[in-house]
Amino acid sequence: MQPARITAVVLSVLVVLACGPAGQPAPEPPDWILLIHGGAGVISPDTAADERERYAAGLRSALAAGRDVLDRGGSAVDAVEAVLMLMEDDALFNAGRGAVFTWDGTHELDASIMDGAGHGCGAVAGVTTVRNPIRLARLVMDRSDHVLFAGEGAEAFADSTAVERVDNHWFDTARRREALEKKKAGQDRLGTVGCVARDRAGDLAAGTSTGGMTGKRFGRVGDSPIVGAGTWADNGTCAVSCTGIGEEFIRYGIAQRIGDMMEYGGLSLQEAADQVVHHILEEGDGGLIALDADGNAVMAYNTIGMFRGAASSAGRFEVAIWDEPERPQ
Ligand code: ASP
Repeated sequence: MQPARITAVVLSVLVVLACGPAGQPAPEPPDWILLIHGGAGVISPDTAADERERYAAGLRSALAAGRDVLDRGGSAVDAVEAVLMLMEDDALFNAGRGAVFTWDGTHELDASIMDGAGHGCGAVAGVTTVRNPIRLARLVMDRSDHVLFAGEGAEAFADSTAVERVDNHWFDTARRREALEKKKAGQDRLGTVGCVARDRAGDLAAGTSTGGMTGKRFGRVGDSPIVGAGTWADNGTCAVSCTGIGEEFIRYGIAQRIGDMMEYGGLSLQEAADQVVHHILEEGDGGLIALDADGNAVMAYNTIGMFRGAASSAGRFEVAIWDEPERPQ
């Protein structure tokens, strides 16, 4: 091929790569974007307006905390940690204060965090005295040679850090005790927290924190602290945080599977998320939030609702529980 012809072919390939489907320029990704969830499950559409608004307000404060970090140029990992610490301290959500009760009437908390720039990750499972498990997970990532500490080992690791400690009863809340009583009577309720972010530098991060499932038995660990199941972040593909019946998310490696479908199967983020939520998982199993490297966002669930929110540098700031966004009252 003549050099001029080669140049023309290369140029046209570059033009195609830079353009959307109909030759339109591909939309610029927002400078930063942030998604959160506060659990998926049986959330009755008849929920009283004041309770609905309490959840919406909790989601908005969490979004605002992440927005503040990302807006001033902070990293995606810092934003995820800030958002989840706030949600852990909010007794409405099943993470940190407000975590559900185990069958034995105690609390065992799980969390994980992952940095999309280089596969750094940290997780803790079954901690009982750490006020903010996501903070401890971050320290596992930043300050240890390991990825996951469980039970007594996680508590021992916490002893070597300055994280705030509390008595296990500090996590008690009346509504979660009521949920345990209902569970013992055969009913259930979910409510984990998660966050995914893409910062101004284009780095992705994901994190998830939970009290697990109401009435869980001795030492049960769900998907939330399992990197690849409940949490995943890789700058080359996507950042994902899941919520729902953890056993199912572990069985199918749901969070990482989305990245694999994109990397090896050529699927878009939306296609991969639809595939896992509506074809691999079963109706009622849960949901997830996910971002890709181009700033595309997905919030998908196969339950009645999912507490969730989105914010971006392009001015997006919205929360939702069912299919429609919640409007401030
Ligand atoms: N996935 C969590 C677990 O199984 C629970 C939830 O998301 O509500 O521990």
